Amino acid sequence: MRTINVFANDTELSKATKKLLKQKLEKSDFVVPQEFDPNAELIVCIGGDGSFLETLQKYEFPLIPFVGINTGHLGFFQEISPDGLDEFIFKYKQEKYEIQHLKTVKAEVIIGKNKKEFIGLNEILIKGIRSRIVHLNISIGGSFIERFSGDGILVSTPAGSTAYNYSLGGSIVDPRLSLLQVTPIAPMNTTAYRSFTSSVILPPYLSIRINPEYAKDKELLIVADGMEHILQGAEEIIIGFSNYIIKLLRFENYDFWTKVKSKFI
Ligand code: NAP
Ligand code: MN
Repeated sequence: MRTINVFANDTELSKATKKLLKQKLEKSDFVVPQEFDPNAELIVCIGGDGSFLETLQKYEFPLIPFVGINTGHLGFFQEISPDGLDEFIFKYKQEKYEIQHLKTVKAEVIIGKNKKEFIGLNEILIKGIRSRIVHLNISIGGSFIERFSGDGILVSTPAGSTAYNYSLGGSIVDPRLSLLQVTPIAPMNTTAYRSFTSSVILPPYLSIRINPEYAKDKELLIVADGMEHILQGAEEIIIGFSNYIIKLLRFENYDFWTKVKSKFI
């Protein structure tokens, strides 16, 4: 039995698309379970990029390939439109697709004897709570680089380079490259504080070590793909590539730079 997980966000169009897709897939002898089946061969996400990212977080970055149907606003990760369901099923059955592999970023947070881990497909960002400034001692590959002062820093994957990273003035990165981009968020530059003002780009084998300096309470915010967590007393945060790879179905007319052009200019 060939099983396909289908998830949709809460908009009317997404729910209607899910219903229709389920009928069509069942007609083609696929099974569409009610709940997440870890043995499914494909996961279909109906919504925007945000609901795709949420699904990844919820099911902890499954190895099963994904395909997105865009009913959201932008749909950078999404490949299919709601009126292309028949064409999608036809091409899927004929295996007329390629699989794009996307790397993810991991943050390991050390708090006393405990370790917490966060994964992002787009990015991980570290910032202050309640709009406070942060002071972060940053080392790259074991060498101390700077004491950053400002709103925070964002570490983006190539896949996430077109998201928050881009709004902060970071570069758009072709996802065939393997690198991490560290982009400052409102870096301070005065006689009191000095921080890099542009993004820095790192090879995949180096990690970034962050040792926060706290003034008042020892709180920081870590945000993985838009999902916020408050950190209490984090002593060290190590950010680098994670071992999770996301597999995305792409059909024959997919081209990264054509997609960038169609979504941005
Ligand atoms: P959201 O508040 O709905 O807005 C984020 C926007 O970014 C949406 O239009 C979303 O597309 C788009 N987006 C998400 N990932 C993208 C990618 N890899 N490339 C290009 N655009 C992308 O938030 P959300 O939908 O839950 O997405 C979470 C992401 O929002 C975070 O990972 C972060 O990168 C981004 N974000 C951006 C800013 C900013 O630019 N100032 C601020 C906060 C967060 P859809 O419309 O298809 O959902
Ligand atoms: Mn969204």
